[in-house]
Amino acid sequence: MGAGPAALCIVAELVQQGLDVTAIASHTPDKPWPNTYGIWAEELELLGMADLLGHRWENTVSYFGNGITVEGREAVEHNFDYGLFDQEALQKALLKRCNDLDWNLDTVKEIQVLGDETEVICISGNRYKARLAIDASGHRSHFIKRPYHGPVAQQAAYGVVGRFSCPPVNKGQFVLMDFRPDHLNESERKQPPSFLYAMDFGEDIYFVEETSLACSPPMTFDQLKERLNARLSKRGVEINEIIHEEHCLFPMNLPLPYRNQPVLAFGGAASMVHPASGYMVGALLRRAPTLAKQLAIALAKEPSLDSESLAREGWNVLWSPELVQRHRLYQFGLRRLMSFDEKRLRAFFATFFCLPRKDWSGFLANTLPLHKLIVVMMKLFWISPWEIRMGMIFGMTTSTQE
Ligand SMILES: Cc1cc2nc3c(=O)[nH]c(=O)nc-3n(C[C@H](O)[C@H](O)[C@H](O)COP(=O)(O)OP(=O)(O)OC[C@H]3O[C@@H](n4cnc5c(N)ncnc54)[C@H](O)[C@@H]3O)c2cc1C
Repeated sequence: MGAGPAALCIVAELVQQGLDVTAIASHTPDKPWPNTYGIWAEELELLGMADLLGHRWENTVSYFGNGITVEGREAVEHNFDYGLFDQEALQKALLKRCNDLDWNLDTVKEIQVLGDETEVICISGNRYKARLAIDASGHRSHFIKRPYHGPVAQQAAYGVVGRFSCPPVNKGQFVLMDFRPDHLNESERKQPPSFLYAMDFGEDIYFVEETSLACSPPMTFDQLKERLNARLSKRGVEINEIIHEEHCLFPMNLPLPYRNQPVLAFGGAASMVHPASGYMVGALLRRAPTLAKQLAIALAKEPSLDSESLAREGWNVLWSPELVQRHRLYQFGLRRLMSFDEKRLRAFFATFFCLPRKDWSGFLANTLPLHKLIVVMMKLFWISPWEIRMGMIFGMTTSTQE
């Protein structure tokens, strides 16, 4: 179910395993996706897919403001390439691996597990029978059950692709996080923090996006738009032309689904968003082949396997004990970050990017094995100033965000 990045990734790998797949989505799989997806270039190089980047930046920096410097410089240089997917190329490449499978254009309204088989019922009245249903219908899926865990923190962002009176970031530059708070007054600084994510697209077109990493309740688009305008005007930058506006809202710490349910999920529906960064597409590309292979092996071993047993095989790979532990650590980290005020958050990220590049990039991509992740988190604790260490241990309950 679905035709977003998660659905295309998993369908492609299931088809490549020679399995019989029926795909259902509310729109055609080649309809352009509404979001632009970014990723560290190395993640794609390791998958042999770097040619799918539409933009790539070598000059990648962050700013943490108010005298926070790293090695004496205000701009923290990441020395690590970042890219944006060429959406069309990514969609085409995945659809090619689906062997041009036809999608059924329909919206799923109900899923019933009938012992051996699962029945998927659509709004049109069409019913499909399958050995296993895989829900890749995004973060808001109603078909996947998960424990209630209180309010969920959401990443929210408001962005503009456009032309400006003068460059909002340096030419040829990508800014991962600009946390400089000089456009905020004292009372605004007590509000939940946000940062600028921005890049030069060339030909005098730039993308600027005010982003709140995670907040519950989420920051509103109006608040973010106001912050973006204040940030730009403080630097004497005006928006001359809006080519595209992006409104971004998705959950960061959705609880993991129950792993004994008879419907499997992939992507947002399976809580695969990285709880500390909000990234997911790299994880989809890395994890889809292993999941599809496991399902193919299970079916080859026991062709009459029922829905529940087959789903369990899938859940065990998708959320193995190791990945569950890593997810818990990231969730713990996010809870701590959400309790930090803006000054502490800026100091935290400045320290984070002092870690060796392999450590911080592996942390952000979720490619470090558990023992290494623990070592990196301990290293981060060790190199942090005392006020950050205290925040990591106890959280900062005085913050406006708790
Ligand atoms: C604005 C924005 C920017 C983001 N940027 C990045 C980024 O730069 N890098 C990154 O890694 N991640 C990013 N993310 C996070 C994450 O990668 C995306 O949310 C991603 O789109 C989730 O993929 P998905 O396929 O699980 O769900 P979706 O992309 O939401 O796709 C769901 C699909 O299911 C279909 N569907 C829904 N309900 C039904 C139904 N009942 N029946 C049939 N079909 C249905 C929909 O039509 C759609 O095709 C971003 C998210 C947002 C919102």
